[in-house]
Amino acid sequence: MSKPRVAFFDFASCEGCQLAIVNLEEAIIDVVGLIDIVSFREAMKEHSEDYDIAIIEGSITRPMDVERIKKIRAQAKILITIGACAHLGGVQRLANQWTPEENKAEVYHRHPGGTEHTTDANKFFNQPRQRAVDEVVKVDAAIPGCPINGTEFAKVLLALLQGKSLPIPDYPVCVECKKNENICVFELGKVCMGPVTRAGCDSACTNRGHECEGCRGLVSDPHMKAQTDVLEKYGLTADDILRRKTTFTYRYEEEAQAQKGGE
Ligand code: SF4
Ligand code: SF4
Ligand code: SF4
Repeated sequence: MSKPRVAFFDFASCEGCQLAIVNLEEAIIDVVGLIDIVSFREAMKEHSEDYDIAIIEGSITRPMDVERIKKIRAQAKILITIGACAHLGGVQRLANQWTPEENKAEVYHRHPGGTEHTTDANKFFNQPRQRAVDEVVKVDAAIPGCPINGTEFAKVLLALLQGKSLPIPDYPVCVECKKNENICVFELGKVCMGPVTRAGCDSACTNRGHECEGCRGLVSDPHMKAQTDVLEKYGLTADDILRRKTTFTYRYEEEAQAQKGGE
């Protein structure tokens, strides 16, 4: 039986998630024997349009991106996204708070020589908005994080190939943070999204005394699954934290606003 053919594609992104895969060593060994990688710009020159599994990095920005992702979806039997850009729209989604004209004025008119780039700026900024991949096409699995955890990528791909359920946790980062015996950053006067953010990074940021910024997105129901003991201790609700930080989670804010508008 032939092995599934895997191709990687990048949209608006820094390509850091693909790099996390390139840098995998032992963790990928269980997977590489089961697949044929036919396209992976960061790691090889060859490219093929004949693939079964598409792995997508980056957010959908331009009308040409919409056409391209739909074409990829039509070809792929399985489509997996990697990273917060593809999963949530990335940090770049914060641009959706303003009109394309306002963004262009902010970026180009405030910087010396910026207006020299006006023609290119018009091309780039004349876009409706940043979107996550699953807002445009069906996604079979989303691997969260900025960047992704390469080991989690290998485990999810293996589970998909074996028809097993996906090993992506649905509990908050606080669980991992407590296991790691960290001092809660709320004690340091910082605001942490750990109580509402999906675990799986082994509390990478709070282990170093930094706040969680929510790069893995929210647990499936942040009002029900939040780490209530931490919230209660600091006199907070899930909504309080959601309002304070939107670096990676502006998608949820937009969805809440859209829901209110539709009521
Ligand atoms: S999720 Fe982060 S690391 Fe991955 S492509 Fe986007 S910005 Fe880069
Ligand atoms: S709020 Fe942040 S620092 Fe505190 S326990 Fe949760 S993840 Fe750790
Ligand atoms: S602690 Fe939060 S921001 Fe840091 S990697 Fe984990 S989910 Fe992302």
